This record gives sequence, structure tokens and C-alpha cells, in this order.
Amino acid sequence: MARSYLAEARRRRGPRKARIGPILDRLQAEHPDARIALAFRNDLELLISVMLSAQTTDVTVNRVTKPLFEKYRTPQDYLAVSLTELENDIRPTGTFRQKARNLQAAMALLLEEFDGRVPDTLEELVRLPGVGRKTANVVVAEQGAPQGIVVDTHIRRLSQRLGLTGNDDPVAIERDLQRIVPREQWARLPHLFIWHGRRVCDARRPRCETCVLNDLCPAARVAI
Ligand code: SF4
Repeated sequence: MARSYLAEARRRRGPRKARIGPILDRLQAEHPDARIALAFRNDLELLISVMLSAQTTDVTVNRVTKPLFEKYRTPQDYLAVSLTELENDIRPTGTFRQKARNLQAAMALLLEEFDGRVPDTLEELVRLPGVGRKTANVVVAEQGAPQGIVVDTHIRRLSQRLGLTGNDDPVAIERDLQRIVPREQWARLPHLFIWHGRRVCDARRPRCETCVLNDLCPAARVAI
């Protein structure tokens, strides 16, 4: 859609701050089951699952972590094996050499500086090797204390199509969302946007004709 048409469509749909409430309400009704798809039992498993999920699917991560979490239960366990052994244990997740190096370095820092516990602030988490802002945001949100809003490829696409941001950079998009989304929804929004992105608002073929956000979306291709 040409920029001028998009601006006009945005104007007709109303200000983003007025639309965000109905958008979240409708997505909640549409995807009440939306939740993180990674399987974990504690903060350490959560952190490792999210670190392994870069550039692969949650299904692959869960397949790898099932035996992994039986073998490795503490940060020390990840340091007690050779790098090659850990690489082989996480190989199907891709970029496994880099991930294995980061995992061991992150476990060493957890032991050195955090008493072996997974920290619960963004500032501390991003100090761990291999943990960027997106990973840290996922971890703190699942710990129940979101300090930002996760922005992945689905959330970026939906935020742009829904006219909630004019930015492309994930940090700028997160800032735009934080301005309009109530803090108590910071952990919920990513799940709702990711599930809607997967099920309805596909990157190449959005199903606008059946989308519950159609009348609130400036990028809707067909009116219903
Ligand atoms: S109306 Fe279309 S473009 Fe807008 S959110 Fe729904 S599927 Fe995506």
C-alpha cells in the first residue's frame, strides 16, 4: 500500500492509543490459548530455551531440550562437559557452535556473579553472553515481571500493519508500544501478536477477510 494511502487509512481508523484496547481485547478473545511455546520447568531452563530458540523453531528447541534438561540440571553441569559434547547435544538448533560457546560463558557468569541464579532484570540479563534485549525481555516477562515488550518478526509486522509504529528498528518499535500499551499488558501482547501473526496475519498472505482486527487495521486489504 502506498504511503499516502496508509496515512489516510490510519487517519480513518483513529489514533493508535484509542485502538490498542480493542485490539488487545479482540486478540485475547480470539487466541485465549496464546502462550510461550517453549517447554521449561524453571528459570534456568527458560533462559536456555530462549537462548537456543534463535533462528530455529520452538518445536525443534523443545525436541532438543527434553533430553538436554535431563542431562544438564545446574549451571555447573554445562561447564562439566567439553564444548564439543555440548555442541553435539544442541546441534539440531543450528548455529550450535556459537550457541554452545555462549551457553558455557553465560553459565560461568551466572556462577561468578549471580550465585548460580538467573537474574530478573533486563540490565543484568543482557550482560550474559548470547543474551540480547529480546531474549532478556522474554525471560523477565515469563518470570512475571516484564520490563519491556518483546519485539520479534511477528510483533514488528503486526505493529507496523496496525499502524502502532512507523519505525522499523525493534528498539524504536518497543518504545512506541510502551507509550500506548498499559504496563499490565506488556507480557501478554507479544503472545497475542505472535499467535495472530502465525494464524491470521501471515507475512505474505494475511487473511484480512477473516481477521477480527479488520476494521481497526489501516493495512486491511479487504473490508468486512
Ligand atoms: S486486517 Fe489484515 S493486515 Fe490487518 S491485522 Fe488483520 S490480517 Fe493483518
